[in-house]
Amino acid sequence: MDPGPVRPEVPRCSLCPAPAVLFQRQTGLYLCGIHATADICDRVAATIREESMIAPGDRVAVALSGGKDSTALLMILSRLLPSWEGVSLVAITIDEGIAGYRDDTVRSAERLVQSLGVEHHSIAFADLFGDTLDELLKGREKEACTVCGILRKKALIVAAEEAGATKLATGHNLDDEAQSVLMNVLRGDLPRLVRNTGAPSSGQFLPRIKPLMRIAEKEIATWLLVNNAWTDLPECPYARHALRREVRSLLSSLEYRHPGTMQHLMESKKKIETYCAGSFVEEPIRRCRACGDPCSGELCQLCQLKKTFGR
Ligand code: SF4
Ligand code: ZN
Repeated sequence: MDPGPVRPEVPRCSLCPAPAVLFQRQTGLYLCGIHATADICDRVAATIREESMIAPGDRVAVALSGGKDSTALLMILSRLLPSWEGVSLVAITIDEGIAGYRDDTVRSAERLVQSLGVEHHSIAFADLFGDTLDELLKGREKEACTVCGILRKKALIVAAEEAGATKLATGHNLDDEAQSVLMNVLRGDLPRLVRNTGAPSSGQFLPRIKPLMRIAEKEIATWLLVNNAWTDLPECPYARHALRREVRSLLSSLEYRHPGTMQHLMESKKKIETYCAGSFVEEPIRRCRACGDPCSGELCQLCQLKKTFGR
């Protein structure tokens, strides 16, 4: 009798007999859903510990866009929360006002905080800046991500401070960090390349932390699928103007053909940081002469941007 087509054998988890859902190139391990989830959680906990991201008594505001990375971040931090002394979590969502995109992600964020029982604060560009991002960008669509980034940074700080947060956690993953390294190289922005590590920033700014900075996008997708939290969400309509989109596609294809590319980029950044140690004098923190926010020049980025809008 014809045995029929031969089915390819599903790889088994290297740690138990269950079918594998993830192959980790860095360790050579195949992992099932349970072991992949536990491994991701352990590595996030180790990153937080090694980079001293969270201290007893911290109130951590998680920037929750409702997209994949921030969803995984809030789920992982909620799971780790019982092991931290006196630490509390609060989620903050910024509604930039992007038609056909933001409504879905905001709804996804609301469903998540309800299911996890996490306190949630939202703030809209329209309330904070008087207009939605769509309105502000009319005729300036190519600058979308720069404008959005500056306004969102301010909105996140306002929302985090209103929520009484002592740290602001964002969902940047390994792929995002590697993209940022390459983008800073392509822009010739060495000072920014050697700044901006995952450790909490200090000084007069609300310290920002990136607990997922060592977790690859592929692993975050696995986490969401295994934990039934995967949702297909639309892409921001302005993303097509972004340099990041091209860098992301370039790096993904390099990573596929030359495994370890992203990790090597992060290692290069560390080496450059070491070689450059002491070469860049940190500019003293000053106060913006228009709004009083901490900044490095005469005017903060937000007030410079407002001027270009004639405000
Ligand atoms: Fe903002 Fe650009 Fe991200 Fe859209 S793609 S949400 S415009 S930063
Ligand atoms: Zn200012």
